[in-house]
Amino acid sequence: MSTPHTTSVAHIAPREKAEILSQALPYIRKFHGKTIVIKYGGNAMTDPELQQDFAEDVVLLKLVGLNPVVVHGGGPQIEDALNKLGKKGHFIQGMRVTDAETMSVVEWVLAGEVQQDIVGLINAAGGKAVGLTGRDGGMIRAKQLKMLDKDDPAKEHDIGQVGDIVSIDPSVVKALQDDQFIPVVSPIGFGEKNESYNINADVVAAKLATVLQAEKLLMLTNIRGVLDKQGELLTELTPRRIDELVEDGTISGGMIPKIAGAIDAAKSGVNAVHIIDGRVPHAMLLEVLTDQAYGTMISSR
Ligand code: ADP
Ligand code: MG
Repeated sequence: MSTPHTTSVAHIAPREKAEILSQALPYIRKFHGKTIVIKYGGNAMTDPELQQDFAEDVVLLKLVGLNPVVVHGGGPQIEDALNKLGKKGHFIQGMRVTDAETMSVVEWVLAGEVQQDIVGLINAAGGKAVGLTGRDGGMIRAKQLKMLDKDDPAKEHDIGQVGDIVSIDPSVVKALQDDQFIPVVSPIGFGEKNESYNINADVVAAKLATVLQAEKLLMLTNIRGVLDKQGELLTELTPRRIDELVEDGTISGGMIPKIAGAIDAAKSGVNAVHIIDGRVPHAMLLEVLTDQAYGTMISSR
């Protein structure tokens, strides 16, 4: 068992501590009973101290009356496992071709290892987390992602069991969160023939936030937020500005599915969508319970 690292606030006078705590009240009141979907990824997921902060934040949010739902990623962990097994990757346009053998590795890494580590951390911090994949409760129906050739849109590439969401039935998540549990979801869906699909976790988090009518979607990542060409943080982004940034190549790689999911969620009625720096200790708590703004907020218009 690890103890909370309290040393960093030891120098703060009791009166100031009380002041800081009481400033959370309006936020607690505002968000009480509301759902907040958290995409957990990047460094926050690999650094032990940040993992601990994350687990404590999730538990604190639950205890003050919010309903946190965690969706986790795990690209680097999957890479590691495949490398250890000596499985050579085959990539098309930056996407790993997921054959049946690769998919079984994806399932055991995500659902067996990464998800269960997160469940354990949250439970050790005093919460009651329950791990789910999209298969549980028939939650995430998926189909093969169509990948068009970037030069010839008439041509399609077969990248195996990489999935696109068909629908999400959130009833299992609702049942758990209405009770005292904290759902932790692995981004795996199932198809018509009960086959498995690996889905981008940002896309799952965004869609889940939409179907749950979440108040907030927080995407923790390994960078300050969305950056412009000069590397400056963009604190607020509209769909039109995002289109321009994707068009001119400023937004690329893993930020593309993240930002696409973020816009979809914002347009579908999720009130606050933020891409935040998961490397900042307690980034989530700061975002939800203080007036500090970190990272990039995505607006619906
Ligand atoms: P995550 O684990 O959060 O999904 P990803 O690596 O998939 O992490 O996505 C975040 C990465 O996207 C950043 O580390 C950065 O390399 C890349 N990226 C591409 N364009 C941008 C941009 N305009 N602003 C910030 N990050 C960007
Ligand atoms: Mg990513």
